[in-house]
Amino acid sequence: MNSGTTIIDVTVRLFKIPLDEPMGDAKHGEHTHFELVTATLRLADGSEGTGYTYTGGRGGRAILAMIENDLAPFLLGRDAREIDAIYDGMGWHIHYVGRGGIASFAISAVDIALWDLKGKRENLPLWQMAGGTGKIAKAYRGGVDLNFSLEKLVASVGGYLDTGFTAVKIKVGKADLGEDLRRMAAVRDRIGPDTVFMVDANYGFDVETSIRAAEAFKPFDLLWFEEPTIPDDYAGYGRIAEATGMPLAMGENLHTIHEFEYAHRFSKLSFIQPDASNCGGITGWLRAARVFDGSGIPVCSHGMQELHVSLVAAQPNTGWVEVHSFPIDRYTERPLVMREGKAIAPDTPGTGVSFKWELLERSVASSG
Ligand SMILES: [Mg+2]
Repeated sequence: MNSGTTIIDVTVRLFKIPLDEPMGDAKHGEHTHFELVTATLRLADGSEGTGYTYTGGRGGRAILAMIENDLAPFLLGRDAREIDAIYDGMGWHIHYVGRGGIASFAISAVDIALWDLKGKRENLPLWQMAGGTGKIAKAYRGGVDLNFSLEKLVASVGGYLDTGFTAVKIKVGKADLGEDLRRMAAVRDRIGPDTVFMVDANYGFDVETSIRAAEAFKPFDLLWFEEPTIPDDYAGYGRIAEATGMPLAMGENLHTIHEFEYAHRFSKLSFIQPDASNCGGITGWLRAARVFDGSGIPVCSHGMQELHVSLVAAQPNTGWVEVHSFPIDRYTERPLVMREGKAIAPDTPGTGVSFKWELLERSVASSG
């Protein structure tokens, strides 16, 4: 017999949402839209929770298909309160074909829905469920701007300052290192010495080039150099950090807990940046954060600022929330709230993220 918390329905939706303008980085070319995949679970008592994941524009249909074809049959009839057991069960259910990659995105969307249900059931906001250390997090504006002209880049960064940000990140990874340096010099000049500054190469360099770049970047007083080289080269990160002393950050491309453990052991990172949309949702994000607890390594985030604000703020090793250029929060009832350059987590029970479904549908339709 069904108890009230039995999962009785799984509804998955895919939205392809146009960006205001094309945005580029070193390895993914230009983004013209992003994809949002939502998973809504309904329980026998009528309650509903929604989770989600996103892509840079490709793979959304595969994620949707994996949830519909493989995870939904696994979920139906299970007790939504058993979040850890369902999380581990989903991982093993599709492990052979899907470990990491698409499977991690699909599991993330479902896991976030389970936490949304938990918060609504227990009348708790996410920041309290996720550790409760605090509800205010440091935040920075992350540009996806490698395709911008120098003038446009400087104007774009100036716009971030005008809207209250005190920390900014730009893309690097031009074919000519000298061009990256000219862009960084112009940005540092525009933001002044007191604004926090980071750069992100989206693994555009090999290890030797990363070492040369890190040395050349030193005059710009960076908080971190993000993803200089491919995330799979854990030891390569360690070599870059050791050779240059440059603080390194990565994590948006780590999907399983084992990958975070390798990064912790070998990569000599100064910041870790798990993304709940692709590392197993809230359960996966919290497990990754725990790997870095006790090492003095701040836990940050990538993308999905409307959700990550609650996770980052709640950790004892709280780091920085990235306010990403994919404006998912524009399509939610509570776009990210900032005060004096910091991000404030919602007190709404559940994840605090509920979508404006009609706006999502209109945005897709208007994209042609
Ligand atoms: Mg990045």
